[in-house]
Amino acid sequence: MGDAELILGQVLSFNGDPLTAGPAAARVEPQGAVLLADGRIADHGTAADLRAGWPQARITDMGDCLISAGFVDAHAHYPQTGIIASWGKRLIDWLDRYTFPEEMRFGDPEHAAAVASRYLDLLLDHGTTTVASYCTTHPASVDAFFAAARARGMRVVAGKTCMDRNAPEGLCDTATRAHDESAALIARWHGQGRATYAITPRFAPTSTPEQLEALGALWAAHPTCLMQTHLGEQTEEIEWVRALYPQARDYLDVYERAGLTGPGAVFGHAIHLTGRERQHLRDSGSSLVHCPTSNTFIGSGLFDMTGLADEGQRIGLATDTGGGSSFSMLRTMAAAYEVAQLRGQALHPAALWWLATAGAARALRLEDRIGNIATGMEADLIAVNLTATQAIAQRSARAEDMWEALFPTIMMGDDRAIAGVWVNGVRR
Ligand SMILES: [Zn+2]
Repeated sequence: MGDAELILGQVLSFNGDPLTAGPAAARVEPQGAVLLADGRIADHGTAADLRAGWPQARITDMGDCLISAGFVDAHAHYPQTGIIASWGKRLIDWLDRYTFPEEMRFGDPEHAAAVASRYLDLLLDHGTTTVASYCTTHPASVDAFFAAARARGMRVVAGKTCMDRNAPEGLCDTATRAHDESAALIARWHGQGRATYAITPRFAPTSTPEQLEALGALWAAHPTCLMQTHLGEQTEEIEWVRALYPQARDYLDVYERAGLTGPGAVFGHAIHLTGRERQHLRDSGSSLVHCPTSNTFIGSGLFDMTGLADEGQRIGLATDTGGGSSFSMLRTMAAAYEVAQLRGQALHPAALWWLATAGAARALRLEDRIGNIATGMEADLIAVNLTATQAIAQRSARAEDMWEALFPTIMMGDDRAIAGVWVNGVRR
């Protein structure tokens, strides 16, 4: 342990899920320390104990900063970086007007590399150390993304978006090409370093049943991959799915019939669900990802966080860049709080923070590696300044406990709050 680093601050960790178990499942060590060595969390505890136990370690004193696992963004579209905050559309018009023209540009490897680099640097500035991103239909867009993540040492999930109908010809593949190009990308990237491949049909309306079946077969052949897609985002979309797949019992059944549900299936949005869909999502071990800034920005609806959590769903949190309106998981937590309030649910700050770290990691089946501060976990950490702006500082100054001190940063914080980022044990 030659190059051990001891980070001092207020250390936040989880011994359970505060969303269902309550805030006691989160623990803050006010004068805490985390020991990093060889890219892992080697120890954590009180600053006094760790200083005594590891006298050779290099000390990084972050003062009163909160030391947390880095944020995990469980659903995003890196190719939409340049069209974030585009005005005036709902989902289907959004795709046609903004998304598809932008995604057409990603056949150019240089463009893809430039955007992937810019996007991942933006994420790190905002304290996000892992993301699950859609790419475009172009394999070059996937290569660019994984290469940019590897250059930064980041654990990421990504996959080629597959579409063989209802999209511009330049963005469409076929059932066979989707299968074969995805298979080649799995061979090139899945499990290499910190890369996880996700088989990625965009959503039911832009795939034929044949394409979904081909991707279901591919997933069955590569079960350690994830599968990511969209589900139940807008009511018009659900009507469209019903027209395109008249034999399906509901939207989820389209995926279910193709073998695209189960452990490692990650469904973005999941707002408008039938009882049968909710039951199958839970029973199959599939994951749901809440994208609150996107859901309000394009007018999709209000995710039922408490109801879904109480029935035992596996839930993560995400920006959904660029349908989502922020790169920040702090802003995303604030939006999750606001959306829940509109449903009469008040999410505790511990639950919000868990959703943005350990919960999102769990949704991606990465909870044994990232998303929490525990011995043996990979050392992706952030230091968060809880008094980063005047507006936040004047509120947190009168806080009577840790959560009251943290909540103003959740509601009003942005990249200025991120005082330090460590990726795989290396400070950025
Ligand atoms: Zn999305």
